[in-house]
Amino acid sequence: MDADRPQDPLLAEIARRRDDLVTLTQELIRIPTLNPPGRHYRDICEYLDARLRRAGFKTELVRATGARADSDRHPRWNIIARRDGARPGDCVHFNSHTDVVEVGHGWSVDPFGGELRDGRVYGRGACDMKGGLAASIVAAESFLARHPDFAGAIEISGTADEESGGYGGVAWLAEKGYFTPERVQHVIIPEPLGKDRICLGHRGVWWAEIETQGRIAHGSMPFLGDCAVRHMGAVLEEIERHLMPLLASRRTAMPVVPEGARHSTLNINSIHGGEPEPEPGYDGFPAPCVPDRCRIVIDRRFLIEEDIATVKAEIAAMMEHVKAERPDFSYEIRDMFEVLPSMTAREAPIVTSVAAAIERVLARAPEYVVSPGTYDQKHIDRIGRMHNCIAYGPGILDLAHQPDEWVGIDDMVDSAGVMALTLAELLVR
Ligand SMILES: [Zn+2]
Repeated sequence: MDADRPQDPLLAEIARRRDDLVTLTQELIRIPTLNPPGRHYRDICEYLDARLRRAGFKTELVRATGARADSDRHPRWNIIARRDGARPGDCVHFNSHTDVVEVGHGWSVDPFGGELRDGRVYGRGACDMKGGLAASIVAAESFLARHPDFAGAIEISGTADEESGGYGGVAWLAEKGYFTPERVQHVIIPEPLGKDRICLGHRGVWWAEIETQGRIAHGSMPFLGDCAVRHMGAVLEEIERHLMPLLASRRTAMPVVPEGARHSTLNINSIHGGEPEPEPGYDGFPAPCVPDRCRIVIDRRFLIEEDIATVKAEIAAMMEHVKAERPDFSYEIRDMFEVLPSMTAREAPIVTSVAAAIERVLARAPEYVVSPGTYDQKHIDRIGRMHNCIAYGPGILDLAHQPDEWVGIDDMVDSAGVMALTLAELLVR
């Protein structure tokens, strides 16, 4: 911030709440909301419920009953809090996921301790994304303290399961009408993209399983069978020789980061062929068989310039090409999962408001980025039909899901400032 300029009263309000912001982040980290399997969702919702009710929000705790992965043992609880202003106006919604991924190895601090060291708060979920959730809460509370007579409404949601697709969280809420353009006009998802970057959306994704099919026989007489693994070898060669260079030659106008993801990409997630891996402890030999099935799972990420029908047709054409050269070859392609690319326009009001706020808080122009992978914007966009949505929040994306994950306190304070100024821009006339 420019030291010569008198500080905006709203930013001064946030600076006064710095310790509270730190404590809030620590307390959120100490609730170990591991997903899978989806632990402590109810606990974190109750914690947020108490906090937001103190700030004058009306709250609803809703369970995504019957959603994918919801069970009585691990219920998918979500919270939606709303504070209406003094008169009609737009609604600005902050959506954060409350789940965190597994801890993994290599930590030097307690992953659920919320340790404070050198201006950073450490713990699983610190940057992805409890720091962002805390920043949005403190931003809203500071704004309410300075502008009690605002127009419109502020909503804050804490939702389940983003890390596993969002089906027990934002997707379910969007199905129930919580993200329609009639109810919500602006959405910020405080994912850890960095305090000076606005994330406009994400690439598309298609997962599919491809199975090659042969015929089982004795391994000593392979000519009596038909080896599915050899057929898959031909498929993989086709992918290496022709598909990979073709995908690498396509480049998007989307500002995807990192740079390598500005091309179409394909990952082969897994390959399985022949008899299953032996159980641990089994020290016998395998049986001699010609494998009759081989499967791969592909993860194809596509660009806004590509359409999903063409993406699928390209794989189908490749398989037909392999089939044409191999007698007896047969195969199946099974769809598993798909998400269309999403990109909010730079002229959208949430984008221009956040951009102006970044310039005021950080005295520099924002960078506009697009995420290589998807996040909950996909459901808000597609199910909710709400296209005025971005991801903006503190934290370094590369630290997400890593050991010794942390979020910087200065970054949280600055992002909270950007969020509060955005509220002022959109809700104070
Ligand atoms: Zn996240």
